[in-house]
Amino acid sequence: MEKCEVCVVGGGITGAGVARDLALRGVDVVLLEKGDLGVGSTGRSHGLLHSGGRYVVSDPESAAQCASENRILRRIAPSFLKDTGGLFVGMKGDDEEYYSRFVKGCRRAGVRAEELSPEEALRLEPGLSDDVEVAFRVMDAVADPFLLTVANAYAASLEGAEVHTYAEVVGIDDGEVRFRSNGRERLVKAEVVVNASGVWAARVAELAGHAITLKPYRGTILVYAGRASEHVINRLRMPSQGDIMLPHRNTTLAGTTFSPEERLERYGIEPEEVQVLRREAERVLVKLRTRRILRAYAGLRPIVGEGRKRDFSLIPEDGFITITGGKFTTYRLMAEHASDEVCRQLGVRARCTTATTSILEEEDREGLELYRERYGALGTQAAEYADRRRRICLCEGVTEGEVLFAAEKLFCRNIRDIRRRTRLGMGYCQGRRCNLEAALVLYSAGMIDHSTVHTQVLNSLRERWKGLLPIAAQVDEVLRELRLMEATFGCAACYDRIKKHVRGLERFL
Ligand SMILES: Cc1cc2nc3c(=O)[nH]c(=O)nc-3n(C[C@H](O)[C@H](O)[C@H](O)COP(=O)(O)OP(=O)(O)OC[C@H]3O[C@@H](n4cnc5c(N)ncnc54)[C@H](O)[C@@H]3O)c2cc1C
Repeated sequence: MEKCEVCVVGGGITGAGVARDLALRGVDVVLLEKGDLGVGSTGRSHGLLHSGGRYVVSDPESAAQCASENRILRRIAPSFLKDTGGLFVGMKGDDEEYYSRFVKGCRRAGVRAEELSPEEALRLEPGLSDDVEVAFRVMDAVADPFLLTVANAYAASLEGAEVHTYAEVVGIDDGEVRFRSNGRERLVKAEVVVNASGVWAARVAELAGHAITLKPYRGTILVYAGRASEHVINRLRMPSQGDIMLPHRNTTLAGTTFSPEERLERYGIEPEEVQVLRREAERVLVKLRTRRILRAYAGLRPIVGEGRKRDFSLIPEDGFITITGGKFTTYRLMAEHASDEVCRQLGVRARCTTATTSILEEEDREGLELYRERYGALGTQAAEYADRRRRICLCEGVTEGEVLFAAEKLFCRNIRDIRRRTRLGMGYCQGRRCNLEAALVLYSAGMIDHSTVHTQVLNSLRERWKGLLPIAAQVDEVLRELRLMEATFGCAACYDRIKKHVRGLERFL
């Protein structure tokens, strides 16, 4: 049986942050993630590094945490952030009394907010509606949540942490953690287990014989093609639905909704959610009215206890520590608190250094610009594959080299994992053209077996379909894209023929 000091359950941003924090303190860590890194709430967020402004009235403590973590992450992970800045905009008909509460709240929580005239706001963002009557500029930034999670896991592994993806924890008994990996059950013995499993935290706690109350709330986000603004646009009102629009790579994300959800998996997106989001986003950022919606996705927020407070919860038991709730923006602080408790229990005196230690060293040499832009400080490693220039994903410009880089260096097991690192299949055609190409690259490199090419492509396409179906009834172009996909791939007989062909080929090898 493998032994370690700490077993972290969950490879979202919080678990990856805890693994890095502890590894930097010299603690021996194993991280177990049941799917891919960031595949839970983390990858389903907007990736907004909040300025804190959103919470200054409703939840000042969270607002202050966001403001301070925003400053820290800008220092330690600049290459993983896009410093877009943000605007809070009040529209005709909004509650004017809220504006003065916002100003006072920002002052109290330490959130920097500079008032602009509506004309100045429109000059900065010509895609905004003329109905904007008040605007404040804030320190929002945008991160790719998958990449920041992978970067934390990667940095942790450089410090000696072991990272296992597709390793589902199925039992915890007195520090003995049972997990399933590659169809086998395995055991790791840990002195302390950290439960960083987000909305699954109650389930994982139950495995260890502990009870916690956690309510998942679903949030849906629409992805529009192209950047309709260069700043994050926030509504200046009490947090509500459809308040945030932001530029992410070459798309605009518009979210989110807020509704209680019973299921932790296989929850759907309601047509009304899509309607609300379109109405709210296109009213504020009118430029979106002419943009195509590419897809929709939904995630669950882990909210502990009653109410809608957005701060995090640390629940320390002897040998079993739960850290959940909070936000993507505050993950480092959550990891610090959890790791402090781990060290207290282990008797380790090393202090947290993550507020001052860069997430991976940044290299700034010529030729790295493109890779740095796409992969942050991981760009140095990506550039090692620069000679493999053939474009695999035409919509997002992903090369063969980038597919191989992700597959070899970034804990990838399948095409879906590669998509989350590189954006392969995230563009206009949603993977219609590139999935098969990517599978063939992996096959040629000997990374996947020919018998799995078919399943890899199908699973990846299925996942794309999930995000297309909820909007197909409302967006003609999406329906057309779906039909085209169906015509290209949907015919099972076509797959059967490929399979038969490959099986036939095997006899001659
Ligand atoms: C729609 C939406 C938009 C959001 N937007 C923002 C935003 O813009 N900015 C912001 O700051 N926050 C945002 N949030 C909140 C943010 O996404 C979450 O607070 C944060 O990502 C939680 O990260 P986590 O690592 O704690 O949880 P998760 O990312 O859910 O990670 C938990 C991991 O545990 C794994 N796991 C579960 N059970 C097991 C098991 N038995 N064995 C092994 N692994 C297991 C899961 O697979 C998962 O990967 C948003 C949330 C939603 C839903």
